[in-house]
Amino acid sequence: MQRFLAIIASVMFVGASALAQARPPAPLPSSAGAAYVIKAGRLIDPETGTATANQMIAVQDGRIVAIGANVAAPPNAETIDLSQYSVLPGLVDAHNHLALTYKKEPENDVYYFTYVQDSTALRAIQAASNGLQMLSSGFTVVRDLGNNGLYADTALRQAIEQGWIAGPTIINSGIIIGGMGGQFSPTPEMVKEHNIVYPEYLDADTPDEIVKAVRQNVLFGAKVIKICVDCKPYPYSVEDLKLFIREAANAGGLKVAGHVQTEEGARRAIEAGIWSIEHSNALTDDLHRLMAQKGIWRVGTETPFTEYRGSQAAFDRTVAGMKSAYARGVKMAFSTDADTTCRG
Ligand SMILES: [Zn+2]
Repeated sequence: MQRFLAIIASVMFVGASALAQARPPAPLPSSAGAAYVIKAGRLIDPETGTATANQMIAVQDGRIVAIGANVAAPPNAETIDLSQYSVLPGLVDAHNHLALTYKKEPENDVYYFTYVQDSTALRAIQAASNGLQMLSSGFTVVRDLGNNGLYADTALRQAIEQGWIAGPTIINSGIIIGGMGGQFSPTPEMVKEHNIVYPEYLDADTPDEIVKAVRQNVLFGAKVIKICVDCKPYPYSVEDLKLFIREAANAGGLKVAGHVQTEEGARRAIEAGIWSIEHSNALTDDLHRLMAQKGIWRVGTETPFTEYRGSQAAFDRTVAGMKSAYARGVKMAFSTDADTTCRG
């Protein structure tokens, strides 16, 4: 099973969304020299909306090199017989937190307590487990957007890239950057020494701090920059947001993903030209229209209605919002936000 998962990981990032990377990622060193022929009973192509019977997929060095009814096998190719199955490109989760636990014991599903009770080391192991579960569920690319302790997300990405463990291709953000306090409501005692709730958030309240925070994350392995646009009553200005975007672009062309929870925050993020807006609650028809004009991704973190979570009314609002975005041509990405409905 593990060998098969590793094969999926090495092959399926070909299907990575443009959201994740402007350019296709380089093949992993761990894929070098590996060759496979996958026999697919049915090959599903989402771009054309077709499913074709009895196809072969040739893979070399982590890349799909040929697809067809009868393709030449690369030298020394191993055959993977999925002729009794349907095969589809890898799925992308554009917003998750693999080192953030949701568990009954000891936190009673209150994730704030994760920061207090679980070390970064423990959370890195949790992330490895979650990454394996995501991959075995068909997800071959995950954007891991913060709340991972002291860079457990970078450790996970590196371990997967080294071939030590199976997992999806990880596009990780490092620590979420926000105005003082991040998404928390810390006490003065907590803030004073940054001892309890940090490093879950990097405070950046001035232009100098914004530049330094972006550079810190890049230094410690971030591949995307995640910010809180408006988590506090002192949201970032359009100029602040443009500085984030400029500094991230300066650091190897990184994109900026913005957590948004107010209409004003969304309007500012759109005006600044952010890459993606995380969460959909604040997005209106008019904001969708502006996002479509600018080509800004909507990473809605839509949550299905289950008996465990949510309400019918909230679900109806979610569906209406998605329909509004779709009708206006907004680019939309699938995203889970580490929901308990997706992992046990
Ligand atoms: Zn999130």
